[in-house]
Amino acid sequence: MTGVVTRFAPSPTGPLHLGHAYAAIRAHDHARGAAGGAGGTFLLRIEDIDGTRSREEHVAGIMQDLAWLGLAWDGPVVRQSQRLGAYEAALATLRAGGLLYPCFCTRADIAASASAPHHGPDGLVYPGTCRHLGAAEVERRIAAGVPHAWRLAMDRAVAAAGPLGWTDLAAGPQVADPAAFGDVVLARKDAPASYHLAVTIDDAAQGVTDVVRGRDLMRATDVHRLLQALLGLPTPVYRHHALLLGPDGTRLAKRNGAPALGDLRAAGEDGRALADSLRAGRLPLGFAATSA
Ligand code: GLU
Repeated sequence: MTGVVTRFAPSPTGPLHLGHAYAAIRAHDHARGAAGGAGGTFLLRIEDIDGTRSREEHVAGIMQDLAWLGLAWDGPVVRQSQRLGAYEAALATLRAGGLLYPCFCTRADIAASASAPHHGPDGLVYPGTCRHLGAAEVERRIAAGVPHAWRLAMDRAVAAAGPLGWTDLAAGPQVADPAAFGDVVLARKDAPASYHLAVTIDDAAQGVTDVVRGRDLMRATDVHRLLQALLGLPTPVYRHHALLLGPDGTRLAKRNGAPALGDLRAAGEDGRALADSLRAGRLPLGFAATSA
């Protein structure tokens, strides 16, 4: 055992495609090598926090796809839907520290209230409307059952944590700039935790030492690093890998023709051979990878 612990953490909101296969292979091989031999630990976590979009059939499909690719995971499969208590406890800690506030805005409210819309790494930065609500108004709305999310008061959080950095094994030392995201949502109206909160807590709880995931999440790590500091959690090292691109040059997704692994499996393709092709950088005709 090398002591390295990685994970593949798909959201079961659709079938896995070639891009997911690549991400799973990168995380698996980082811990255990291409042969899947003795080495570190490779975990599978099902990020089914979004109850409205997650489907059991996709959970089953994910496990079949990984087995077909020759990727065996270690230990029990953790499901975020069973970890709500841990997220609630973290929210309570942050709330007690005065770092959260309820947000009653709808998407339309946010779009309408941003007079000079400001875009961050995750899209529109929240203009802060609900930060300025008086305590009595907040109480009235909560008592009236108005649906609300919980947002991080980013300036207070950054001040409390101080300067932060983290390490990407390929790109080197990174200065965290979570403020670029604005007041991120940590508990959604329709889900008890947001991706940022759940992923940070679970990586720590599962002892993940090396987070291996796609380059699209590089800047999200700044938010995760901040949450680690606020919640007293350890900081893993990160390896943000290349993304696969579809024939139209954009990130691989179902809409640009990414074949579902389940379809390839059903058509009798050899999953292990496909995994080896991806490892060797041989992509199906028309597909490409970003560098690194
Ligand atoms: N559930 C996330 C996704 O599917 C996982 C991201 C991560 O690896 O942190 O994009």
